[in-house]
This record gives sequence, structure tokens and C-alpha cells, in this order.
Amino acid sequence: RKPVIAIDGYSSTGKSSISKVIAKKLGLIHMDTGALYRGVTYFAIKECSDENEKIDLEKLFKNLNQIHLEFKKIDEELILFLNGKDISKEIRTNQVSANVSLIASQKEVRDYLMETQRSIAEKGGVIMDGRDIGTVVLPDADYKFFLTASIEERTKRRFLELKGLNIETTENEVRENLISRDKIDSERAIAPLKKAHDAILVDNSSMTKEQTINYMLSFISD
Ligand code: C5P
Repeated sequence: RKPVIAIDGYSSTGKSSISKVIAKKLGLIHMDTGALYRGVTYFAIKECSDENEKIDLEKLFKNLNQIHLEFKKIDEELILFLNGKDISKEIRTNQVSANVSLIASQKEVRDYLMETQRSIAEKGGVIMDGRDIGTVVLPDADYKFFLTASIEERTKRRFLELKGLNIETTENEVRENLISRDKIDSERAIAPLKKAHDAILVDNSSMTKEQTINYMLSFISD
């Protein structure tokens, strides 16, 4: 049976891009659970905003069953589809980033996404990254890692990533968003962002992506 690997940590510590490489190396399916929360947020902004462009949470809760999120493999990349439409770029906008942590702190939303996440891990052979994977979603994972890095390093990384996606932003805006999301994610009542007691702590502030991957792989026996 192939392993189940849980990767959690702060925003922009490289969780997803690292998971992608490890998945390829070990022949695992990779699921970026942050994309699911972003998908729900994108839906909420579009379909459940009131006249002041504020998200109406009650309306969102009532409409959760209208949200069908699905990952499709295109050119070796998992692309997120919402009700049949590719939303992989839309979920990275500043507007989604600014609202996602509020949406992710709602019990209704977390419950709704739980099944999608757990069902994919049932047969093993999966690497899942997020905030509560090792603590709540997959507490029995074979390997757990918790990633952290300095705020300056993370700001630089996310800024470059967004630039590559042609999303306009500034380093300041990126830094403020990371700090604000980490705070809401760590302080929320349900499934807060925290290191599972049995997770391996990886501070990659002064490590390259490759060094981080090799370090993590050194714990995994296949
Ligand atoms: O991973 P990413 O930065 O795209 O996640 C976006 C947001 O989704 C996080 O800031 C957090 O609020 C939420 N999230 C979560 N639980 C997860 C994954 C993401 O609450 N497992």
C-alpha cells in the first residue's frame, strides 16, 4: 500500500509545489486542499454577495450543495473545476485571498469539504496539503510534516508566484495578506492551523525547494 502523507503549515511555505514534486517522485495523487477553500470562496463572492458586495454567509450555507468542485488532470497538472468551469486562475486573485480565511473558518464549509478530502485518501497513495490535514482530516497519515519559514521569505515567494500568474499586487499587499490569513487560520475555533504532535517540523527559510524536498524524502521509506 502506498503511503498517505499530510503536509500542513503557514501560507506560502511551499506546501503545494513541494507536494507536487514528492507526488511525482513517489507516484502519489496530490490534493491541494487550499484550492477547495478558494473555490468555495470564489463561488461565495460571485453568487452569495449582498448589495454592498459583502458575502452573505447564510446564503452561502444554503447554496453549498450547488458547489461541485472537481480536480481534472490536464498535462500532468490538477486543474480545479467549479461546476464544469476551469477556475484555477480565478482562485488566486487578491479578492479570493482576502476572503478565503473567513470562509474557511465556517463549520458548514469545513464539513462540506471533508468528504471530498477523506474519500481521496481511502485507498492510500496520496499526499494532501493544507492547514488541518495532519490534525483533523487525516490524523492517521503515515507521514506528517509541518512547514514554516520567515515572513520575508514567504512574501518574496508568493509575490513571485503571483507575478508569474500575471496577477497584479505589491509585496506589501502580499505580506499583509499572509499575516492576516495565518492569524485567522491559527485562531479559529474549528480545525485551527497547528502542528500535529507527531508531525516533523520543517523550517525552510534558508533552504531551497530542492533541499526541502530531499530533507522531507529522507524521512519517507518506500
Ligand atoms: O493553501 P492556500 O494558501 O491556498 O489556502 C488558502 C486558505 O484556505 C488558507 O489561508 C486557509 O484559510 C484555508 N485552508 C484551510 N484548511 C486547509 C487548507 C486551506 O482552512 N486544509
